[in-house]
Formats: sequence, structure tokens, C-alpha cells
Amino acid sequence: MSPAEPTGNDRLSRIYRVDVDPAYRPEWFQADAGAHVPLPPADVVACRETLPGQPLAWAETDAGHIPLISLAAGEPHIRYDWPSWTRYVLGESYRTLTRPLYTRLPFHYHRVPGPVRRVVAKLLLAQQAPEGQTARTFPGFPIEQGFELLAHIWARVSPDEAERSPATTRPHPPAIVLTHDIDTAEGFSWVRRTAELELAHGFRSVWHVVGRGDPPDYAVLDWLVERGCTIGLHGYNHDNRIAFLPADQIRRRLDACRPLIERYDIQCFRSPSWFRSDTLFEVLKDYVAVDYSRLDTDRSCPGGIGGCLWTKPFTLDGLTHVPTTIPFEDPLYWGRDPAQLVDFWRPKLDWLRACGGGIVVNTHPEPQFSGNARMLSAYDQLLDVLA
Ligand SMILES: [Zn+2]
Repeated sequence: MSPAEPTGNDRLSRIYRVDVDPAYRPEWFQADAGAHVPLPPADVVACRETLPGQPLAWAETDAGHIPLISLAAGEPHIRYDWPSWTRYVLGESYRTLTRPLYTRLPFHYHRVPGPVRRVVAKLLLAQQAPEGQTARTFPGFPIEQGFELLAHIWARVSPDEAERSPATTRPHPPAIVLTHDIDTAEGFSWVRRTAELELAHGFRSVWHVVGRGDPPDYAVLDWLVERGCTIGLHGYNHDNRIAFLPADQIRRRLDACRPLIERYDIQCFRSPSWFRSDTLFEVLKDYVAVDYSRLDTDRSCPGGIGGCLWTKPFTLDGLTHVPTTIPFEDPLYWGRDPAQLVDFWRPKLDWLRACGGGIVVNTHPEPQFSGNARMLSAYDQLLDVLA
């Protein structure tokens, strides 16, 4: 596919200007070529018989057979199935979720002291470090722009279909959402200091609280709500098992969180440690309207690399997903220093602004994450950039 002509569409031309390597490659059509094809080889059946040099590809998923590129009888060209692709990518059907062994421990892993947990988390996430990734690594981190570019190309090829898609390129109001997950009781003592910084910059944030974990500090949560902040639900007890449970057990857990949901009129959710599954989302939509458990490109979940490859809110099967795009603390796992974080994220912030993506930030107030003076200072710098 040749580069698009300038169209006078400012958003589109800006997208093309930020097209740095790795980006869209012609060989993405070849499912076994690797680069920028969101299909692990095991899931793809590609055949090259029908058109010389042009494979037809489809995916076998839990949801069944999804045709991605097909050739209808009598048609001289390949049909590119945008609605199916969109569903496949946004729903992360390409991703293989693995269940870490520690979620099978006979006791809650939070009984291991925070600093030790941090070392273990570092070991787990080190395997997902973006350092050493090549142009063929999929999805790229912290920017994966293949699907974004494709959506913009498709909006020109088939505007009506693109407009109806959940991955619409229709301009979104620029969104900055600051979110935090309070995992444990130790986190609460840093909440006010963090929120005061945000309020001083004119931001009101979202705080996800564990429904049946350490007892929440209600005085702190009430203080947040009085200042216009939002309370969300951060799972049942943060044992990282919820995404692996059958629907009836997930429902039982969410029912047990009803008192917190009702007290703060909770409308949003983030799954502990980003563990997510179709079953979880299917049940979750009966409890909240918005989910923050997906990332556009995911190195944060210990269950494996993934991401919905999309940076704007979208709705799938009745639940609105707001992808987290700036998991601010993650580079700490790969040996970065708090003072380097803003520079690490700056290219991504520029890219999100260029393509109209949401700047959805996540941090944790626990002392081993953002609840300390050096991280608070890094976060203050980030807020300066955002404000
Ligand atoms: Zn958490």
C-alpha cells in the first residue's frame, strides 16, 4: 500500500508524519512473516492457493472462526474484513493469557512483604521488558501504531464501515485521565499528597479501591469525593484470580463488593494486575459501565504481553473500555530511575496527542511504587507536562 496523499485532513496527515519505524509494513499481509500481524502463528491458518502471492488469513479463537481476509466466490479481489479485524484486535483475541503460579498459592500473595513482592514482580515483568525488542516484536512498546494507521487508512477506503466500527477515527475530545490503584492499606497514607498535587494542576483523578481486601480508609475516600475525584473498584481481594474464575464465582465476588459500589456510586473498574478475560467482562457489565483493565500495548500484566492496540475509548458487548496508555511506573521494573520517567514517556505523549488518543495514566500510592518522595517528584513533573 502506498503512502496516503495529503488530504487536507490535519489529523490524518499528522498520523503519517509520526510514522516511524517500526510501523506499517507491506508484508503484514503474510501471516507467517511475523511483523505487525496480530496473529500468533498457532492461531492462523493461511493458504496461498486462491490468489498467487496473496494469502487468505483467518483466526481460530474461543469465540469461533473469525475471517480476517477472505475471497468471496467470483470476486476478483481480496475482501478485507474490517469489522472482524476490529473485534479481534480490540477484544485481544490474539493474546494468550497465562496464569502465574503465585495465583495458585494456598495463601494470599499480599502476605509476602511488599519489598519481596516487588523483587518477584520485577523478575516476572523483566521478561516483558521492551529493551531488546526489534522491529518484529509485536506489539511494540510503548507505542504500537500499526492498528492506528490501519484504522486511518480504512477510514479512507470505507468511511461508512469505519464510522460504524468501535475503532472509529472520529475525533475524540482530548482526554487526560489520571487513575490510581490502591492495592493495600499502606497505599492510603500517600493518597492525599498525590491528589493535592493533581488538584493544584487542575486535575481530578480516579482511585480504584479493592472491594474486600484491606479495609479502606473511608475518611481518605470521602475526602477525595468531596474534591470531585472518582472512586472505582479494583477487584475483590487482589489475589489476581478473578479473571480466571467461572462466571458464577466472579459474580459472587462482585456481589460481595456491593457495599463499596453503593457507598461511592462506583461506575468503573480496573482488574488487579491487569488480569482480564472475556468471562470477566461479560459479568462485569452488569456492575459497572466503564473498564480500565486494558492497555493499548501491555507489558504490565504478569499474564503475558498483549494490548488492544487502540488508544481511545470503545464499546464491546455493552461495556466501555478506556485503554490505559501511560502505565507510568512500569519502566521502574526495567531498571529505569524515577528521574527518567517523564523523558521515557514524552515520545508517547506526543504521539497520543498527534493521533487524538487518550492520555490515561496509572500509578499506585504504595511506598514501593509511587508513594515516596522521588516518585512524587517525577509525577509532579508529569503533571507539569500534562497541564
Ligand atoms: Zn492493583
